[in-house]
Amino acid sequence: MLISLLSCIRTGKGYFLDLFKAVTAYPKLSGFDLMDEVVLTGVCVGCGACILSCPTNALHMVDGRPDLIVEKCIRCGTCTVRCPRLTQILIQRYKLHERAKILTSIVGGE
Ligand code: SF4
Ligand code: SF4
Repeated sequence: MLISLLSCIRTGKGYFLDLFKAVTAYPKLSGFDLMDEVVLTGVCVGCGACILSCPTNALHMVDGRPDLIVEKCIRCGTCTVRCPRLTQILIQRYKLHERAKILTSIVGGE
Protein backbone atom coordinates (compact mmCIF):
# COMPACT_ATOMS: atom_id res chain seq x y z
CA MET A 1 0.00 0.00 0.00
CA LEU A 2 2.84 2.38 0.85
CA ILE A 3 4.49 1.70 -2.50
CA SER A 4 1.19 2.37 -4.28
CA LEU A 5 0.79 5.63 -2.38
CA LEU A 6 4.34 6.75 -3.15
CA SER A 7 3.86 5.80 -6.78
CA CYS A 8 0.64 7.89 -6.88
CA ILE A 9 2.45 10.88 -5.39
CA ARG A 10 5.36 10.50 -7.83
CA THR A 11 3.17 10.17 -10.93
CA GLY A 12 0.35 12.45 -9.76
CA LYS A 13 -2.17 9.75 -10.68
CA GLY A 14 -4.07 7.03 -8.89
CA TYR A 15 -6.90 6.11 -6.60
CA PHE A 16 -5.38 7.57 -3.43
CA LEU A 17 -4.81 10.99 -4.91
CA ASP A 18 -8.23 10.98 -6.55
CA LEU A 19 -9.77 10.28 -3.17
CA PHE A 20 -7.87 13.12 -1.51
CA LYS A 21 -8.69 15.50 -4.39
CA ALA A 22 -12.37 14.63 -4.09
CA VAL A 23 -12.31 15.24 -0.36
CA THR A 24 -10.62 18.62 -0.71
CA ALA A 25 -13.40 19.71 -3.07
CA TYR A 26 -15.67 20.01 -0.02
CA PRO A 27 -15.48 22.98 2.32
CA LYS A 28 -16.16 21.03 5.56
CA LEU A 29 -12.82 19.49 6.33
CA SER A 30 -11.33 20.61 9.57
CA GLY A 31 -11.73 19.73 13.22
CA PHE A 32 -15.09 18.30 14.10
CA ASP A 33 -16.63 18.97 10.68
CA LEU A 34 -16.19 15.57 9.07
CA MET A 35 -17.00 13.73 12.25
CA ASP A 36 -20.13 15.83 12.59
CA GLU A 37 -21.20 14.37 9.29
CA VAL A 38 -20.55 10.84 10.56
CA VAL A 39 -23.08 11.58 13.29
CA LEU A 40 -25.59 13.35 11.06
CA THR A 41 -25.61 10.65 8.40
CA GLY A 42 -26.15 7.92 10.97
CA VAL A 43 -22.95 5.96 10.40
CA CYS A 44 -21.75 6.73 13.94
CA VAL A 45 -21.70 3.61 16.09
CA GLY A 46 -21.34 5.48 19.37
CA CYS A 47 -17.96 3.91 20.16
CA GLY A 48 -16.73 7.04 21.96
CA ALA A 49 -13.25 7.01 20.38
CA CYS A 50 -13.65 10.65 19.38
CA ILE A 51 -14.57 11.65 22.94
CA LEU A 52 -11.58 9.85 24.44
CA SER A 53 -9.21 11.44 21.93
CA CYS A 54 -10.27 15.06 22.42
CA PRO A 55 -7.53 17.04 24.21
CA THR A 56 -9.88 19.78 25.38
CA ASN A 57 -12.87 17.67 26.49
CA ALA A 58 -14.99 19.37 23.89
CA LEU A 59 -17.01 16.23 23.22
CA HIS A 60 -19.53 14.43 25.37
CA MET A 61 -22.05 11.70 24.77
CA VAL A 62 -25.69 12.65 24.36
CA ASP A 63 -28.15 9.83 23.71
CA GLY A 64 -25.35 7.54 22.57
CA ARG A 65 -23.86 10.00 20.09
CA PRO A 66 -21.04 12.55 20.49
CA ASP A 67 -22.02 16.15 20.89
CA LEU A 68 -19.71 19.15 20.57
CA ILE A 69 -19.23 21.96 23.07
CA VAL A 70 -18.30 24.53 20.45
CA GLU A 71 -16.53 26.93 22.81
CA LYS A 72 -14.06 24.24 23.85
CA CYS A 73 -13.18 22.96 20.36
CA ILE A 74 -9.82 24.10 18.99
CA ARG A 75 -10.46 22.35 15.65
CA CYS A 76 -7.39 20.18 15.94
CA GLY A 77 -9.01 17.32 14.03
CA THR A 78 -7.92 14.55 16.41
CA CYS A 79 -11.47 13.27 16.83
CA THR A 80 -11.83 13.05 13.06
CA VAL A 81 -8.70 10.95 12.68
CA ARG A 82 -9.80 8.60 15.48
CA CYS A 83 -13.28 7.92 14.14
CA PRO A 84 -13.48 4.38 12.72
CA ARG A 85 -16.47 5.28 10.54
CA LEU A 86 -14.96 8.26 8.78
CA THR A 87 -13.65 6.18 5.89
CA GLN A 88 -17.23 5.40 4.97
CA ILE A 89 -18.00 9.11 4.66
CA LEU A 90 -14.84 9.76 2.64
CA ILE A 91 -15.68 6.97 0.20
CA GLN A 92 -19.25 8.22 -0.14
CA ARG A 93 -17.89 11.68 -0.93
CA TYR A 94 -15.46 10.23 -3.44
CA LYS A 95 -18.31 8.47 -5.21
CA LEU A 96 -20.41 11.66 -5.18
CA HIS A 97 -17.49 13.56 -6.66
CA GLU A 98 -17.14 10.95 -9.41
CA ARG A 99 -20.88 11.15 -10.16
CA ALA A 100 -20.64 14.95 -10.34
CA LYS A 101 -17.75 14.68 -12.82
CA ILE A 102 -19.71 12.33 -15.08
CA LEU A 103 -22.78 14.58 -14.91
CA THR A 104 -20.67 17.64 -15.76
CA SER A 105 -19.17 15.90 -18.77
CA ILE A 106 -22.67 14.92 -20.01
CA VAL A 107 -24.07 18.43 -19.76
CA GLY A 108 -20.91 19.90 -21.26
CA GLY A 109 -18.90 21.34 -18.37
CA GLU A 110 -15.15 20.60 -18.23
S1 SF4 B 1 -10.77 19.97 20.07
FE1 SF4 B 1 -10.04 18.63 18.44
S2 SF4 B 1 -10.54 16.56 19.12
FE2 SF4 B 1 -11.77 18.00 20.35
S3 SF4 B 1 -13.73 18.19 19.25
FE3 SF4 B 1 -12.42 19.84 18.56
S4 SF4 B 1 -11.44 19.02 16.70
FE4 SF4 B 1 -12.24 17.29 17.84
S1 SF4 C 1 -15.48 7.96 16.92
FE1 SF4 C 1 -16.93 8.12 15.20
S2 SF4 C 1 -18.23 6.29 15.39
FE2 SF4 C 1 -17.18 6.56 17.38
S3 SF4 C 1 -18.61 7.81 18.61
FE3 SF4 C 1 -17.21 9.22 17.61
S4 SF4 C 1 -18.29 9.83 15.68
FE4 SF4 C 1 -19.27 7.96 16.48
